[in-house]
Amino acid sequence: MNFSKSIAAYEKAKPLMPGGVSSPVRSFPSVDLSPIFMDHGKGSKIYDIDGNEYIDYVLSWGPLILGHADKKVVDFIKETVEKGTSFGSPTQLETKLAELVVGRVPSVEKVRFVNSGTEATMSAIRLARGYTGRDKILKFEGSYHGSADSLLIKAGSGVATLGLPDSPGVPAQLAKDTLTVPYNNVERVVDVFKQYGHDIACVIVEPVAGNMGVVPPVDGFLQALREITQAYGSLLIFDEVMTGFRVAYNCAQGYYGIKPDLTTLGKVIGGGLPVGAYGGRLDIMSQIAPEGPIYQAGTLSGNPLAMAAGYMTLSELTPEDYSEFRKKADRLAKGYKAAAEKYEIPLTVNQAGAMMGIFFTDREVINYQCSKSSNLEHFKTYFAQMIEQGVSLPPSQFEGVFLSTKHSMEDIEATIHAAEHAFQVIAE
Ligand code: PLP
Repeated sequence: MNFSKSIAAYEKAKPLMPGGVSSPVRSFPSVDLSPIFMDHGKGSKIYDIDGNEYIDYVLSWGPLILGHADKKVVDFIKETVEKGTSFGSPTQLETKLAELVVGRVPSVEKVRFVNSGTEATMSAIRLARGYTGRDKILKFEGSYHGSADSLLIKAGSGVATLGLPDSPGVPAQLAKDTLTVPYNNVERVVDVFKQYGHDIACVIVEPVAGNMGVVPPVDGFLQALREITQAYGSLLIFDEVMTGFRVAYNCAQGYYGIKPDLTTLGKVIGGGLPVGAYGGRLDIMSQIAPEGPIYQAGTLSGNPLAMAAGYMTLSELTPEDYSEFRKKADRLAKGYKAAAEKYEIPLTVNQAGAMMGIFFTDREVINYQCSKSSNLEHFKTYFAQMIEQGVSLPPSQFEGVFLSTKHSMEDIEATIHAAEHAFQVIAE
């Protein structure tokens, strides 16, 4: 494949933007390649500025569950933009999308729209702190909830569960209020609650972790979080920015049958435009301004274009789509496992609805520690080989692979075929 135009575009971008990009992972930092600049997409395919075609499993990091440039979504955005881009007044489109969200997400009785997943989690944390009058929060090691200060914290080592900032610029005073424990580890959650329980405002959890690769909850994990938080008067926040409308028609909470107090959403509910949302129980949501004292606002929040894209995306999705996602993910997983066996490559595949995680390890992957034990050199070779064969994957072992309604069985078979070749190269 020829990437000369992408390479030239990157050289032009680098002096102007940090890393030449608007979000770090796009610069391909962990795969030692020059990033690929995209030109357009249609259905399951994307096309770069050199004219190369790829089957796309990134889907803009999750939002494009209907694939690229879905006709109904594009038409509705066009119809909406003709009327103006933003008014700073309420529009009926917000109510239409709110109706769909409240109707479909089991625990959400009222919703507030914002502009990104980060804004959603940041605002939900403020709400939890304001509602409970407590400062500490508990999150899980290796979970990403956006780039807000309180959430850019990973686990301290060993028994030290007090947060250490992950990035310069996060005040230590704030970081100390973020407690972290390994994902899927109920014992450690119980220990932390025994020590700090009455100071913990909330537990924030990805109901399927999607930022350490894809790691589903083990049996009883989410239920235990529900019970512990209730026992201590803390709130349970499901961060469904990634899993919302991707793991199941009624989101991960519908699939696992657990009702959190608050839910954060993003990605799919914006259909490819910038959106986030947080919602939950009425008594909690009524604490938000103007109904209550907890402040949160946004100039472009609920803007018509994003509401139109989100509304049409959710309107088009059906429960049957999720059975199809499972069938395709099953076939992909089976094909990958067979190819890995053939070339004796250690491989673990985790699945959850329209998300999948592929790890170069033979260990079961239930948390970040396990995920980190994957062979990252194998991943680099695999990624480069897949790109060469026209398959676009997230450029990191710690990201999930996404399916859209437009991925065909031919796409899946072509991807398995490409993976088989990549595994052969790894084995050589
Ligand atoms: N929460 C989760 C679970 C995410 O995966 C992400 C982004 O990947 C975010 C929050 C932040 O969303 P955004 O990038 O829209 O700010």
